Amino acid sequence: MSNGKLTRRGFFQGMAGVGVAIAAPTYAKAPAGRSEGKPSKAEKAGGRPAYAEAAAGRPFFISTWKHGKPANEKAAEVLTSGGSLLDAVEKGINTAELDPEVMSVGVGARPNEEGILQLDAVIMDGPTHRAGAVAALEQIATPISVARRVMEKTYHTLLAGDGALRFALAEGFEPQQLLTPKALELWMKWKADPKRKQFRRGAPDEKPIIRPDEKQQRPGAHGDDHDTITMAALDAAGNLVAGGSTSGLSWKLSGRVGDVPLLGCGIFVDNTVGAAGATGDGDEMAKFCSSFAIVERMRAGADPQSACEAVLRWMLEVHPENEKIEACVYAANKKGEFGAASIRPGDFTYAVWWPGMSELRTAKSVL
Ligand code: ASP
Repeated sequence: MSNGKLTRRGFFQGMAGVGVAIAAPTYAKAPAGRSEGKPSKAEKAGGRPAYAEAAAGRPFFISTWKHGKPANEKAAEVLTSGGSLLDAVEKGINTAELDPEVMSVGVGARPNEEGILQLDAVIMDGPTHRAGAVAALEQIATPISVARRVMEKTYHTLLAGDGALRFALAEGFEPQQLLTPKALELWMKWKADPKRKQFRRGAPDEKPIIRPDEKQQRPGAHGDDHDTITMAALDAAGNLVAGGSTSGLSWKLSGRVGDVPLLGCGIFVDNTVGAAGATGDGDEMAKFCSSFAIVERMRAGADPQSACEAVLRWMLEVHPENEKIEACVYAANKKGEFGAASIRPGDFTYAVWWPGMSELRTAKSVL
């Protein structure tokens, strides 16, 4: 741990040293009167129970995609070495932002259709019910840190575009070139393709929806074509914080703002209930305020897994064509019960962390 890098083993040794219990996962009882969500195919086939699994210790972190695992581990390190829950979420997400290999967040991400990187980020603090966000922010490697400053240093919730950049510069953030040669090359290839997928209606393939049959054919279509990081964190006192950071959808129109910085869409926290986060086709998911909708279902008594599945089913009921999109959500309640789901099978890898546990999972699907 001395070089600042945290290995799983090193961390767990450290945790054992401070007397943190290492336990196997437990399953929460399905609440009586579970009203939300019919059993999914996976559940009928004997997969994980529909009701939420419970983290067997605190703190608990849950994040999207494979880059969520190092982010959770960093967040845990920050919290257990004396940082606040906000510090943990911010620094955890910074790991994905600063890793050029993560081509959907921060440095090295894929740009918009003009070849410019515009980043969205958000952070929400459960105990104070405050939030900050930035949208279409250019040149700053760590947009979640700027989002936190918006929350802490202004009365606003969301700053966008040039104003967000000027705020960041005034706060001392250094502007830098975020586009890597690899991302530039991918953009040039996309730009040179007359049949390129784009977001204008009436274009040859008018929306780069990731369809199941294309999934294997398009390099990078699944994994880093978008793949925001969002994270929810729960501490021993039962407080919740959530955050997110993304470059949004690759080759998006300039100025496009996705679901991530829109409160209630990319993330939402109610410190008396729980937190939820989303990733996937943000243009579609924002129409359902997916994170807010999940938290509200939990407030009404649904367990996190059922709440996630119910919101995805609602998206399918309203727009049946959503069976083609990638839509992925997760949730955690104050008790540490959590769940995750995607519309299509096998779409969503997420990471969980609690003392003694740091691993990737594949979420259940509602189709
Ligand atoms: N939801 C993000 C957006 O649409 C993309 C993602 O989650 O990967 O901006």
